[in-house]
Amino acid sequence: MSEHGDTKTAVLNGMRLRCPECGEGHLFSGYLKGAPACDICGLDFTPQRADDGPAYIVVLLVSHIVGLALHLMYRPFMDTPLTLALILSVGAVGLCLTLLPPVKGMVIAVQWAKRLHGFGTGRA
Ligand SMILES: [Zn+2]
Repeated sequence: MSEHGDTKTAVLNGMRLRCPECGEGHLFSGYLKGAPACDICGLDFTPQRADDGPAYIVVLLVSHIVGLALHLMYRPFMDTPLTLALILSVGAVGLCLTLLPPVKGMVIAVQWAKRLHGFGTGRA
């Protein structure tokens, strides 16, 4: 089974929240709501099945970052643990919300580039 175009270019386009094929059209119609099709080249996005994959990847990344931050910030904030908890909690939520759209775009782009879930067959 052959692939669509260049996977690296598709992934970079997806992380920019753009169509993996043309790199111009919008991949999402809302914060995380996928557009039905590319508004430039017409690529059908309905075969995408990102599901929980992006959330899993984001939690994996953010938990490692917050774990390291906790390690580094523990001693300076030893006397004010609630301040440390507040900083790390707000940071974790902010990082998750920031990373979710580009990671979802990346997952959809990989699915398109590897012809997964009906992207290669023309049916969902
Ligand atoms: Zn397009």
